[in-house]
Amino acid sequence: MRIVLLGAPGSGKGTQSQRLVQRHGVPQISTGDLLRAAVKAGSPLGVHTKAIMDAGKLVDDETMLGIIRERLAQPDARQGFILDGFPRTIAQAQGLTQLLGELGTPLEAVVLMDVDYDKLVKRISGRRSCTHCGRVFNIHTAPPPPEGCCAAPHLVQRPDDQEETVAKRLAVYDEQTKPLVAHYGAQGLLRMIDADAPMEEVTHRLEAALAERDGRGIEVVE
Ligand code: AMP
Repeated sequence: MRIVLLGAPGSGKGTQSQRLVQRHGVPQISTGDLLRAAVKAGSPLGVHTKAIMDAGKLVDDETMLGIIRERLAQPDARQGFILDGFPRTIAQAQGLTQLLGELGTPLEAVVLMDVDYDKLVKRISGRRSCTHCGRVFNIHTAPPPPEGCCAAPHLVQRPDDQEETVAKRLAVYDEQTKPLVAHYGAQGLLRMIDADAPMEEVTHRLEAALAERDGRGIEVVE
């Protein structure tokens, strides 16, 4: 399985990627997670990208392509991958096609996870993650269990999930990432699912869309 999950912030790419990892045994490659790990480690990459991320802007294409090149070279990615949050610009998509061409492992499908704008804002502003166990919850739609998520629960909000930054991230998505829908549509790789549904149902729609990945054109699975 070599796929991209495409969608606005809060559309559920991360959650669904994790579920596909369990079901298909290929790694999730989340560029957001890789950058947050770099920030936490205080590496030169993290120092370079922290302010950009906190402002809800995109890190430059050259840096992102370097990160992806390195990650795809790791042995676990030879079996396939789920790209979550990459590519985010046409230049990144072109760089990815070239890189995968060199590796002889082209993309099989790109799935657009479609959710209404208003719902996205609510989903993102409710998102919390536990600094101890790493699990991600939503105080509106998927709260942590009453007994707590782990032995030492400590829920925090990502700095870029605060309301002022969310609007910026959605605008950046519209301007720079949405053009990928037409880009991948023209290549016959795009599938679209309505991702405004309970988590299990979205997984079902995603699996159904992926089962079509040898077909051509846009498939809407409802
Ligand atoms: P995410 O967790 O995917 O929402 O990513 C969080 C932040 O990391 C984004 O708002 C960007 O600042 C940065 N980022 C993640 N992936 C990319 C990418 N492919 N291109 C540029 N910036 C990215």
